Amino acid sequence: MQHLVNPFELPGKWYKADLHAHTTVSDGQLSPADRVEQYRRAGYDVLALTDHVATNDVRSLTDERMLVVGGMEYHPVCPTCEFEHIKKRYDPATSGNFDLYHLIALNIPHGFKFDDPDDANRCIAQVRAAGGETFIAHPSWGGFGYEDFRNLEGLVAIEIYNAGCDLNGRPSSENEWSIALDRGWVLPAVGNDDAHRVDTEEVFGCWTWLKMPAPTAENVAGAVRTGACYVSNGPEIHDFRIADGKIQVRCSPAAKICFSAGPSGLGRRRRADEGETITSFAIDVTDETSLWPYIRATVTDSSGRQAWTNPIIL
Ligand SMILES: [Zn+2]
Ligand SMILES: [Zn+2]
Repeated sequence: MQHLVNPFELPGKWYKADLHAHTTVSDGQLSPADRVEQYRRAGYDVLALTDHVATNDVRSLTDERMLVVGGMEYHPVCPTCEFEHIKKRYDPATSGNFDLYHLIALNIPHGFKFDDPDDANRCIAQVRAAGGETFIAHPSWGGFGYEDFRNLEGLVAIEIYNAGCDLNGRPSSENEWSIALDRGWVLPAVGNDDAHRVDTEEVFGCWTWLKMPAPTAENVAGAVRTGACYVSNGPEIHDFRIADGKIQVRCSPAAKICFSAGPSGLGRRRRADEGETITSFAIDVTDETSLWPYIRATVTDSSGRQAWTNPIIL
């Protein structure tokens, strides 16, 4: 299995990022400048504008307080998705949307256009050739399982939580991520708002902490690709590493901390007593844990909000 970096062992600073946001350039309700101001005021360090099949000129939107990254949400065809039973209930002019991928390109130049917009692998390669990277957005919300995205070559990460998709009751793609990891595909995780609206229904609901030497668009794409990040919709993770014979995590007050390590009984859980909280979990490295393919930590606070580390590959 390919290894990721461990951001908790890397030098640099943590930057709070939203990597998936819409504006009036596509179907969002705020202008690019107003969307940027909304996140700047909320204390974010990085915002990617990712309008549907459209780019933004981000140069004038970035300032010393917040980096704005040029991106795009694009929709090539997924050949394995079959939604005929759903599509026939809807207007045929629009129901083709069910079998289109939602992929997010980060760090692409303004005016970027695809040569063949339907071909996912060609699109991903073209994003790469332009210096960018692609992650898959909200697979569960779109009805996409691991089998539907396993053939995407060059995909660098998966959006495991999307606050906007919570409006439809499908915010989490943690399961799809777990299956990919179980099958040996080491994909880092990101989490985002996917804001379309003006109000706070779908903003500030999930974010990605990026560990970077400096806030540049290249470093944002690099941190996502190498796993120098973790996802949260509430709790903070202060440390996660294997050291001194222990697998250990430290975090803000939590009701439960889990180590997920694979299918069929791998992994462990520590739960706080009723009404109490815990801020760490450590287990010994043993002959048994040495067989685990990977280990990642999930922290759940007493409100049910969560934070997820990327996996350490064992
Ligand atoms: Zn989408
Ligand atoms: Zn979106």
